[in-house]
Amino acid sequence: MRITVLTLFPEMYENFLQTSVFGRAISRGLVSVDFVQIRDFAPGNYKHVDDTPYGGGAGMVMKCQPVIDALNSIRTDASHVVLTSANGIPYTQKKARELSQKEHLVILCGHYEGMDARIETFTDEQVSIGDYVLSGGELASMVIMDSVVRLLKGAIRDESISEESYENGLLEYPQYTHPAEYAGMQVPEVLLSGNHAKIREYRLRESLRLTKERRPDLLEKRVLSDEEIRLLKETEEDD
Ligand code: SAH
Repeated sequence: MRITVLTLFPEMYENFLQTSVFGRAISRGLVSVDFVQIRDFAPGNYKHVDDTPYGGGAGMVMKCQPVIDALNSIRTDASHVVLTSANGIPYTQKKARELSQKEHLVILCGHYEGMDARIETFTDEQVSIGDYVLSGGELASMVIMDSVVRLLKGAIRDESISEESYENGLLEYPQYTHPAEYAGMQVPEVLLSGNHAKIREYRLRESLRLTKERRPDLLEKRVLSDEEIRLLKETEEDD
């Protein structure tokens, strides 16, 4: 997979690209990343990429021409263009999975007060990483890149992914590692039992319990199996 980021601040990505899962994915050849400096496409000596908003108001708005010229410099038929935007559709694991199938993912990062609204029409979709405002799209693009690249085959172990939060519409069960007792708190007995059927059931029950407590909206969206209905009842009886 190829990822191209259009940004005014490519230097923000240096450590990110070298570190951990992402760094490994690059060295294994699963993904290549390149950058387009939007400012390179701004005319004149001053290289202005932004201007004051029509209708008045605070701040500066990124202009169409440099952004669209930057986009056209790398866009091919295989490109899928994502605009980071506080106004976008909420980004989810499902979207990460969808984007991980793309041959060429292009991510457009705004800055200042955002972009001229006409830029939207040159993109395939607008994505928000949460209900808050960032000062630039760079961190949002890193969130998207990180969540997409770890889904590429060979980036991390397949089993690590299938059990994770959101993958099956539930939050992940709690995890523990050594020692079995810490600060007076014990690791749940069942996890030490070696009984795989019991462990599986315990984990599913805890997933359901956590999801119900913290993200009831996820539970409402999901069709539960008979086993899940039974386990959810058990957690209610525990309370
Ligand atoms: N004035 C805009 C915010 C602009 S923030 C508004 O009120 O909606 C500047 C840039 O940061 C945006 O162009 C976008 O690229 C990025 N950004 C800000 N918040 C974001 C979010 N929640 N998700 C994704 N990108 C975001």
